[in-house]
Amino acid sequence: MMGSMGRLLDGQAVAAAIRADVLPGVAEFTSGAGRPPGLGIVLVGDNPASEIYVRNKVRAGTESGVWVDLQRLPATASIDDLLAVVNRLNISERHDGILVQAPLPEAMGRHAAQRVFDTIDPDKDVDGFHPANVGRLVQGRAHLAPCTPSGVIELLDRSDIPIARRYAVIIGRSDIVGKPMAMLLLQRDATVTICHSRTADLPEVASRADILVAAIGRAGFVTRDFVKPGAAVIDVGINRVSDRATAMSLFGPSSPRLADFDRRGSVVAGDVHPEVAGIAGALTPVPGGVGPLTIAMLLKNTLAAASARREGR
Ligand code: NAD
Repeated sequence: MMGSMGRLLDGQAVAAAIRADVLPGVAEFTSGAGRPPGLGIVLVGDNPASEIYVRNKVRAGTESGVWVDLQRLPATASIDDLLAVVNRLNISERHDGILVQAPLPEAMGRHAAQRVFDTIDPDKDVDGFHPANVGRLVQGRAHLAPCTPSGVIELLDRSDIPIARRYAVIIGRSDIVGKPMAMLLLQRDATVTICHSRTADLPEVASRADILVAAIGRAGFVTRDFVKPGAAVIDVGINRVSDRATAMSLFGPSSPRLADFDRRGSVVAGDVHPEVAGIAGALTPVPGGVGPLTIAMLLKNTLAAASARREGR
């Protein structure tokens, strides 16, 4: 039997509020500079999930008055082809931000993503992955911080969930989510633990958290035994489930989500098991939680990059 439901944190609504905050800045930049802020998005290959993410980013940017320039490369492109595009965007006057959509085709090699991050002009690095920006983040003086974790901070703030003095546990240590999430929470005076695939007694560590962030990439991994009653649980995971038994074990036999599965043959699930809603104090849904925030923060970073370039900062 499930307990009472925790509060659902509406990422969509918070993202809309952030995007509304960005609008006047975009208008001001556009009238001052005589052109809109420019964002170059590079998509290599045809990964279906990346297609969706990029489509959403292009739409959100365009709706906000940003000029979005989508550059596509075939899956067969070499790392040198990709770096040539990045270099072209680096020297372009009209591009204020540059984003190269992950993941890159495996054929590009294991260090391809890092070579891309190293090449992007740090002043245009709206993902915040260049080592100079990572360094500034660690030093607590980030100008462009990674979009997903900074979106999580905005969500906590705008949902009145206190961070200072709280114990935060992050499951996942990726450069894109886990590590920058830890730095941002630390700067806000949380006490932070990063867990990963080799952590001992993971459920026990997680279940001490006031704020639990799941960024693992495994559907339904975080079950009730990971969660302290009343904790704020942030589900960063976006996992496509195409096995009916898994969908059934996540959502139960009478869920509308299972009906979705039966219609489409797959369903998107977070890293947090739906049963956690019965114990968490607050929880982000998937979809509609952290995903929209990532895009809102991308727009915020694009405006910040554009304004800083214009002011010669
Ligand atoms: P990643 O694969 O780079 O990192 C996963 C991390 O999880 C690793 O650090 C690993 O140590 C940890 N992990 C893996 N198995 C584990 C286990 N059994 N126990 C404990 N830890 C384990 O993934 P990522 O790029 O950080 O993304 C994580 C998830 O977040 C994915 O589902 C991804 O799709 C999603 N994501 C969502 C957004 C968004 O906008 N909402 C943005 C980026 C990533």
